[in-house]
Amino acid sequence: MAERIPVLAANWKMHKTIQEMEAFFKVFLPLVEDVHHREVMIAPSFICLKDARRIVAGTVVRIAAQNMHSEEEGAFTGEISALMLRSIDIDQVILGHSERRHIFGEDDEFIAKKVKAAVQHGLSAILCIGETLEEREAGLTGKILSSQLDLGLNQLEATEYDNISIAYEPVWAIGTGQTASLDQIQEAHGLVRKFIEERVGEAVAQHIRILYGGSVKPGNVRQIMALEDVDGALVGGASLDPESFASIVKYEEN
Ligand code: PEP
Repeated sequence: MAERIPVLAANWKMHKTIQEMEAFFKVFLPLVEDVHHREVMIAPSFICLKDARRIVAGTVVRIAAQNMHSEEEGAFTGEISALMLRSIDIDQVILGHSERRHIFGEDDEFIAKKVKAAVQHGLSAILCIGETLEEREAGLTGKILSSQLDLGLNQLEATEYDNISIAYEPVWAIGTGQTASLDQIQEAHGLVRKFIEERVGEAVAQHIRILYGGSVKPGNVRQIMALEDVDGALVGGASLDPESFASIVKYEEN
C-alpha cells in the first residue's frame, strides 16, 4: 500500500488580523518544531498570506489560500487568481469549501474550473465535498459525494491527481461540535477512494490523501486519524488557538 504522509490543515476562515496571526505563530511554531513526517498547513485570510509565508519560512508549516477564482484576471471584483497566489509563492489552495458552496452559491461547475486552474498554475488543491443533514437523512450521502467528485474532478487528466487531495466535510458537522461517527467517516472515505480508483486507477487511489473535516478537536483527532482511509484533518474552530492546533498536529500524543 502507498505511504500517505498525514496532513493537518487549518482553515482560519474570516478570523485573525495580521497582528493576531503573528501572535499565533509566536506560540505555535516552537510547539511544532520537533514535528516530522507530516504536513502542517495553515490557511489564513488573503491579506495574511504574504506575511504568513515569511514567518513560517524554514519551518514545517506551509501556507494555503482558502479560495481562488478560476480565471487568471478580469472584471471579478473582490476575487483573487491562481497567478496572484503564485506571485507571492503560495502553492496550496482549499476549493469548494461548504461555506463557499452554501453561503456564496458556488456550484460544482465553477469549482471544477477552479480545480483545473489551480493545478494548471502549479497549485495543490484540497477539494472539499460533503452532504447536508437533509441529504444524509434521505440516504443520499453516497450519491451526493459521488456527484461532487464526478463534477469537481471532471476537467482533470489522470496525471493531475498528484496535486489533489479530497476533504470529506459533512456540512452538518462543520462548526457545530457534532463530529461524524468513526463508522460514518470511514464509510465516506472508503467511498471516495473507490470513486478515485474507478476513475483513474488503483495507484492514484492509493496515493491520494483524503482529509476529514467537521468539529475535529484535540480530544477526537487521534481516533479519526487512526481510520484506514483517513490521511489528514481539515480543522476550523480548533485551529484558531495555537496550543489546540499544535495538539491536533501531534495527534498521537493525545
Ligand atoms: C472547516 O471549516 O473546514 C471545519 C471543518 O470547521 P470546524 O473544524 O470548525 O468544524
